[in-house]
Amino acid sequence: MKEAVTLIPMPGSAQAMIEQIEHEAHTNIKSCYQCGKCSAGCPVAFAMDYPPRQIIRLLQLDLVEEALKADSIWVCASCETCSARCPRNVDIASLMDAMRRKALAEGKVTDKKVAAFNEGFLGGVKNFGRSFEAGILLYHNLKTGQLFKDMELGLPMMQRGKVEVLPHKIKGSAQVKAIFDRVDKMGGE
Ligand code: SF4
Ligand code: SF4
Repeated sequence: MKEAVTLIPMPGSAQAMIEQIEHEAHTNIKSCYQCGKCSAGCPVAFAMDYPPRQIIRLLQLDLVEEALKADSIWVCASCETCSARCPRNVDIASLMDAMRRKALAEGKVTDKKVAAFNEGFLGGVKNFGRSFEAGILLYHNLKTGQLFKDMELGLPMMQRGKVEVLPHKIKGSAQVKAIFDRVDKMGGE
């Protein structure tokens, strides 16, 4: 009788990467039976290159590179409709989030503007406990080498008080920063 062989995915292989994404998202892509309820309920599926069901299918087929490079993971608005509708309890919203972090960590983001916006937004939340629109704009423009982009819109909005010029920390911003620091220590989980 042949001995049972346990296959251990090679670190860095597609399978290992998918297992890490599943682990971070606390969900199992093998549970998905491709019913499509997630895509049918997703409010931004029309703007995605791969709707949520297809993102899961890419992962099921070990096509993790394709999934990490998809615009869909950045179009996702984290509304969690897909996760609430899934009859198999696949937490797609959490998977999308885990894939965003993986795509950033692995340098797979094809549109650098998207990554710059994401970093600018999260940087504001980390430091001030809330988003700081002027900071996002400035960070994004500096990182993407287009310093004066949207200035004709941004300046009048600042003059009318629609966008604050200086950031304001919320009460409890120190606790928000502590959460970010803890997550950093856990390796982004
Ligand atoms: S709703 Fe759930 S089971 Fe259906 S396709 Fe989406 S992830 Fe798969
Ligand atoms: S969490 Fe993202 S993928 Fe899921 S329904 Fe909302 S926008 Fe669509």
